[in-house]
Amino acid sequence: MDNLITGDLRNIEHLFKHTDFEFYHHDVSKFVHVSGDIHYILHFASPASPIDYLKIPIQTLKVGSLGTHNLLGFARVKKARILVASTSEVYGDPLVHPQTEEYYGNVNPVGPRGVYDEAKRFQEAITMAYHTYHQLETRIVRIFNTYGPRMRLNDGRVLPALIGQALRGEDLTVFGDGSQTRSFCYVDDQVDGIYKLLLSDYAMPVNIGNPDEITILDFAKEIVQLTGTSQKIVYKPLPKDDPKQRQPDITKAKNILGWAPKFSREDGLKITYNYFKSLPKELLHQRDHKNFDQFIR
Ligand code: UDP
Repeated sequence: MDNLITGDLRNIEHLFKHTDFEFYHHDVSKFVHVSGDIHYILHFASPASPIDYLKIPIQTLKVGSLGTHNLLGFARVKKARILVASTSEVYGDPLVHPQTEEYYGNVNPVGPRGVYDEAKRFQEAITMAYHTYHQLETRIVRIFNTYGPRMRLNDGRVLPALIGQALRGEDLTVFGDGSQTRSFCYVDDQVDGIYKLLLSDYAMPVNIGNPDEITILDFAKEIVQLTGTSQKIVYKPLPKDDPKQRQPDITKAKNILGWAPKFSREDGLKITYNYFKSLPKELLHQRDHKNFDQFIR
């Protein structure tokens, strides 16, 4: 189920040949109904790129709050287990490093990232309330920066931005002095961790991410190396409230789920670069193929 505001049907084209696969074009911020038995619900609906939630702030707030409320109600009716996708953004610009699940965070509610961060914090709160008050089976994953094939090329996030620039022969943009850090997790590792959490009996939030931390400047240099581009790195102003450092503490995931990431950044980046290289040229030059206007009410 997806309203496709940031998603793309091409990403699931290969699934339609399965007769037991169904797709619903629907916005979960509105009442959700599907007939028949449902055993598991995985709620990932939300814009997740800073550029996207700057463009569609109200939808971002609605899907994290109203959308989550609808899906929790839906899970109750179906007696289903529900996993909700939270984010390292609940830690804001963190003052504790690396971030453990016990850290409450340092979030600016009225800053540009507030619409996403606070929606996700509300999502965690209402999910816990359904767990304690209605005994609903709930799981909360806090997803750290994740990348891989099928990312949207022009969504503004650092990895598709830099690879896209290299492929188009443009300079690579680093925001600020590039000393801010992130820790990038390859998508297959992320999916494996989330699946293990879904099947576990642990209802408190769990960080899933790769603790291999790198500065954005060093990351840009890795992309230069990987793509062999002869373009240079240029510096742009640092966006407001851009977190200075981010690294997941994954002790809980290791101990409770027996999970740890397996893909090195080198291997994950190679696979992802090959994917972007294989895309049709016109996609590469499309600034943003998403038309948000049709969704704005
Ligand atoms: N960034 C950058 N150049 C870009 C896009 C992003 O230097 O072209 C930086 C951004 O300021 C942030 C980091 O890369 O410090 C990761 O940004 P992203 O939008 O991928 O996600 P975030 O982790 O900030 O939510």
